[in-house]
Amino acid sequence: MGYKKPSFIEGISEKLGIIPNLHKDGHQEFDQDMRHFTDEQVAQLYENFPPPEKWDNWVEYNPKVWPKKEKVTYQIVPTTCFNCESACGLTAFIDKETQEVKKFEGNPYHPGSRGRNCAKGPATINQLTDPDRILFPLKRKGKRGEGEWERVSWDEVLDTISLRIRNAILENRHNEVAYHVGRPGHEKFMNWILQGWGIDGHNSHTNICSSGARFGYNLWYGYDRPSPDHAEAKFILLISAHLESGHYFNPHAQRIIEGKMKGAKLATMDPRLSNTASMSDYWMPSYPGTEAAVLLAMALYILQNKLYNRDYLENWTNWQEYLNAKHADKAITFENYIAAMIDEYKEFTPEFAEKESGVKADMIVEIAQKIGEAGERFASHNWRAAGASNLGGWAVARCLHFLTVLTGAVGTKGGTSPNIWNKFAPSIPNPPKPQKQWNELHFPKEFPLSFFEMSQLLPHFLKEGRGKLDVYFSRVFNPVWTYPDGFTWMEMFMDESKFGLHAALTPTWNETAFHADFVLPMGLASERHDINSYATHGGTWVAFRQPVLREAARRNGKPVQLTYEVNPGEVWEEDEFFIELSWRIDPDGSMGIRKHFESPYRPGEKITIDEYYQYIFERVPGLSETAKKEGITELEYMQKYGAFEIESGESYKKNETLLTEAQLTGATVDENTQVISKDGKDIGVIINGKAMVGFPTPSRKNEFYSQTMVDWKWPEYATPTYIKSHIHLDNLDKSKGEYVLVPTFRLPALIHTRSGNAKWLVEISNRNPIWMHPDDAANWGFKTGDLVKMNTDIGYFIDKVWVTQSMKPGVVACSHHIGRWRRPQDKTGNRWATNTVNIENNGKGGWKMNTISGIEPFESSDKDSKRIFWKDGGVHQNITHAVHPDPISGMHCWHQRVRIEKPGKDEHYGDIFVDTNKSHEVYKEWMKMTRPAPGPNGERRPIWFERAFRPDPSMFYLNDEKKKEE
Ligand code: SF4
Repeated sequence: MGYKKPSFIEGISEKLGIIPNLHKDGHQEFDQDMRHFTDEQVAQLYENFPPPEKWDNWVEYNPKVWPKKEKVTYQIVPTTCFNCESACGLTAFIDKETQEVKKFEGNPYHPGSRGRNCAKGPATINQLTDPDRILFPLKRKGKRGEGEWERVSWDEVLDTISLRIRNAILENRHNEVAYHVGRPGHEKFMNWILQGWGIDGHNSHTNICSSGARFGYNLWYGYDRPSPDHAEAKFILLISAHLESGHYFNPHAQRIIEGKMKGAKLATMDPRLSNTASMSDYWMPSYPGTEAAVLLAMALYILQNKLYNRDYLENWTNWQEYLNAKHADKAITFENYIAAMIDEYKEFTPEFAEKESGVKADMIVEIAQKIGEAGERFASHNWRAAGASNLGGWAVARCLHFLTVLTGAVGTKGGTSPNIWNKFAPSIPNPPKPQKQWNELHFPKEFPLSFFEMSQLLPHFLKEGRGKLDVYFSRVFNPVWTYPDGFTWMEMFMDESKFGLHAALTPTWNETAFHADFVLPMGLASERHDINSYATHGGTWVAFRQPVLREAARRNGKPVQLTYEVNPGEVWEEDEFFIELSWRIDPDGSMGIRKHFESPYRPGEKITIDEYYQYIFERVPGLSETAKKEGITELEYMQKYGAFEIESGESYKKNETLLTEAQLTGATVDENTQVISKDGKDIGVIINGKAMVGFPTPSRKNEFYSQTMVDWKWPEYATPTYIKSHIHLDNLDKSKGEYVLVPTFRLPALIHTRSGNAKWLVEISNRNPIWMHPDDAANWGFKTGDLVKMNTDIGYFIDKVWVTQSMKPGVVACSHHIGRWRRPQDKTGNRWATNTVNIENNGKGGWKMNTISGIEPFESSDKDSKRIFWKDGGVHQNITHAVHPDPISGMHCWHQRVRIEKPGKDEHYGDIFVDTNKSHEVYKEWMKMTRPAPGPNGERRPIWFERAFRPDPSMFYLNDEKKKEE
């Protein structure tokens, strides 16, 4: 095989010695030159991923010294990616000689990702080798936030924190201990820990992410997430950019394209012409917050044109309850049900939907027709986006699921299932009982229906004296930057009467860690344990995130006891940290805590991490048999392959599962509703004479009519509804320059604040300008690159304009990843992505930030750090947003009313101002919309509503008598 003739540039470069001369004699002898393979042959090469039997001895040529031929022998160890929630499979290539991880590739044995990754997967190597990463536990010196740190031992960390937690529990101050997580994972692990301590201490990021969608789905069928079966669908409807980002990005993207290749049509509703919209057959650029109006117009069309699935509606919706409650004058017949629905939605004509949303009526009709024709093979997804951005955004998910119900596509092949049907739930050793605590800093009475913790309001609750946190863990969590109103978070973090001790568990510096007392380095994706199982398609899998150097050491006959022994510096991992902490809280076992963290195999001894995972994997259906065939244990199987497919694609219609005779023994059936109960709990429903499990709702069916909404003081939302958003055009004054800002969209190569330490990713995406349509730009006299002042309700930020036809006229948008910062006194971190800023506080709630310098090249062990060519680190927009808690779902409503203007002559790019007094006033305004508990029977939350880390049932009542009965 020879090389092609060099191009003119190549020829000169080779002659000058700038690149190796591949055309001189001798160099043409390399075989396997990729340029001589056909596309099919290249595809075949990728199929030929090293087979597992060669994973301990895999030889490749070192690409860095090409064209020299230098062989490197690798050990290949599987793990999972942690750069988004998909947990795709990765394989670490470890240099056998140096025991260094050299690169990451996909894991073809992972059933969710099937060997493929997005850019963020292989970029894990950047995070491992980031010269700015934190390698030792640190304790602050001086005042909080001053930037002075000293190295301490893990012993000191564990002793200090465990003593404080021990005292809090012994003094019955359980609610002063909290663990606040950004990106979770750790399936059931933290339930084990926190419930083992007996505290209601879990807080999450859910209310700035997915509460809206969760609430909308939950109301229908008791499950709070969808699992679309894209690959088998005939029609796919996406609210926002799920093909290029979002849940579950790469696994879903593969399957959406697979579906398309088999003939499925794809429609996307999004005010931006995202990459997803550009790949779609239909783009519906809806005005933000009007999505539910479009979906109801489609529902009406399907009803009027009899495209609905009669059997499904008749059997699996609570239509009799609806007619009884809302149309008591009518006979209870199916025909009356359909007629009542048509009447209920008669105003939602395609023309009305067009007027609200801007989406053409013709397109709405065409898509509705196609959805109706797809029937059970209609897949759809809505997660953050519209559901996470609008007052009443939860109604978008509710109206979307309405289409799924109408077509009978709930839980079908090619339809949309509840996510839990495609997810493995582990059994943990020595499980603790649910806590007998209810923490009102997380679940306050004002939000009895929220999904879930009202985490975005925590600083305001603390500010108005509702409580304090004596020990607070933040983990993969950066609210100062990610959340709205970051300056109020900073004010509270600086106040030791609000946060007694703040331990930031993080592999890398961030804006929140700057304000902590302890900064504790935890392992990156390939440096710690975890298990993952996500609803990526119509099957079920479990994957093992494992510390790859630990596994390599084990294979090499040099096993270690604790993961930090193989991690760089003194980087620990959360699992071992929390087990050790639990033992120190209760060293003699007298508090009843330690027993949960003892070995299930060696009574009385501390559980090891291998024992914890062995216990779980022994209980994965089918894994024992498969492992036995290879003569290895369940844990060894997962260490070897990194993933196991539990069920390969028939997880459909699980609501039709028949109850067994044993289950039915002693059960009773309600004559009116046909709901089957046993021991005070509903367990199923009779459908066409058969006892089936149904759905976990009061009717055991999809609830078109929600008595729960009526009982909890929201009767106007008893059925799927369109709710006008806080940024509806009626609420904006265009004459004053008011626009809606869409601040939520993701860039495919970045992930919240976690990609700031990945040089390849930041090289791809490093600016967040304001997207603006040419018509709007012309009205304002803006051109690309001009400065624009975006005034929010509590302050402003100054950004640059990007004029693009990819934005719907009348709407502006700004990506939420960029604008990271550090102050001059802070430790250097994430220098690939952070501006250096000056922050001033006038002591009266006024906060100013301005950029001192952008991103600059720097000296480090990584030669690339001197080659940084980008300068613009973007602008931090979220910090200028006030909190907007939806009064029902609790979701932070991200969309902002902004007043656009040109900056003054002394105002500069990156300038930010916020008044935290105003932000507290906005908080109070939104709180006025709530309708607090109790609900029926003194309940503080509907009993049938789930809660992350669900407490004892008695805790669901405000009334003490009721608590005792439970
Ligand atoms: S989609 Fe990308 S970032 Fe997310 S887990 Fe997969 S490879 Fe990692």
